[in-house]
Amino acid sequence: MKRFDDGTVAVNDLNFDIEEGEFLVLVGPSGCGKSTSLRMVAGLEAISGGEILIDGEAVNGLTPRERDIAMVFQTYALYPHMTVEQNMGFPLRMAGVSADEKAKRVRAAASVLDLEVLLNRYPRELSGGQRQRVAMGRAIVREPRVFLMDEPLSNLDAKLRVQMRGEIARLQRELGTTTLYVTHDQVEAMTLGDRVAVMHDGILQQLAPPGELYKSPETVFVAGFIGSPPMNLCRATIVEEGGGLAAKFGTFSLSVDPSSIEKYPLVRERIGKDVVLGTRPECFSIATEELPENKHIVAKVDMVEMLGAEALVYLPTDAEQIDSSMTFGNGAARKVASADVQHLSLVARIAPKTVPSHGETVSLGYEADSMHFFDIETGHALR
Ligand code: ATP
Repeated sequence: MKRFDDGTVAVNDLNFDIEEGEFLVLVGPSGCGKSTSLRMVAGLEAISGGEILIDGEAVNGLTPRERDIAMVFQTYALYPHMTVEQNMGFPLRMAGVSADEKAKRVRAAASVLDLEVLLNRYPRELSGGQRQRVAMGRAIVREPRVFLMDEPLSNLDAKLRVQMRGEIARLQRELGTTTLYVTHDQVEAMTLGDRVAVMHDGILQQLAPPGELYKSPETVFVAGFIGSPPMNLCRATIVEEGGGLAAKFGTFSLSVDPSSIEKYPLVRERIGKDVVLGTRPECFSIATEELPENKHIVAKVDMVEMLGAEALVYLPTDAEQIDSSMTFGNGAARKVASADVQHLSLVARIAPKTVPSHGETVSLGYEADSMHFFDIETGHALR
């Protein structure tokens, strides 16, 4: 827990364990408290309540140096007057490591990071990606118990970011060093993390392997945050229909298949009530044959974004859109005044061969077993 002097609670009730050798990513929007959490683990920020253990040892009272961790920040802060070799060896010099041992460790790190030919260069003679690798090298040579990384790729351009992302993943696997990594980028989180902790407003929303976060989000916030384009989220009413259940949203209706009910069993208790319905864009497809009612929706295409391998098709609906971050920001739904109601512009991810044109009326089928349901008040999954 972290309460700043001005009363701001940046981190609230954050409990988790990181396994030995694990790569754990803390992800969330700006201001959710992830950097503060990392700085508390590093010892750069005093904690207002709770305990931090490394290897079972409470480190609350230890200085950053005594915690045996190495941090990599988004600004690499290399010393401009030192060469790559001197920059990388600097922490070892400070720790009183012998010259021989220092040279050995710097060479080993340079080889892992492909920096051998750059050892005599100065930071101003390096590209952004190379500087970032030197910053990583400086962390590696210390052979710490834990790596802490705070948005280390955010100053790089998109292409380099993807390349460095792969290098960080490979490096961490090779070294096997326990890593806590902070980012606001959900794609980075999903590709790097063995497990991903999603934070919002200082509160841990869910901690799970990437695939599970995507398949089984525990809250509306996670549902709306993980995935690109995000899940379609709208207000729906659960009704009984032909011996089963259906979700009505605006003038649309889709039947809820048994496997979705199995996954979200509390839906059965919501007959006649409103819930949040989540549908993934890729679960829609253009119907090529006539589908039974309640197995498809019919809507008019408003916009098409052709991305090459796929197209994003936007279809306006009269269902009330649910904003995952605003509405459930404090754990409970704000009652939306009717004048404020935003209507859902449904996004479908469609194979390029079947892309409709602007203004066309289409029939969209939905993969029956991939509906998501959440409590309209609390934003929690109905299970
Ligand atoms: P970003 O991605 O923008 O860095 P973050 O998720 O890392 O965001 P933090 O930097 O941890 O968020 O900040 C969490 C909250 O704590 C924010 O509301 C921020 O304004 C507040 N905060 C951070 N530092 C202080 C401080 N020294 N005093 C008061 N409030 C602070």
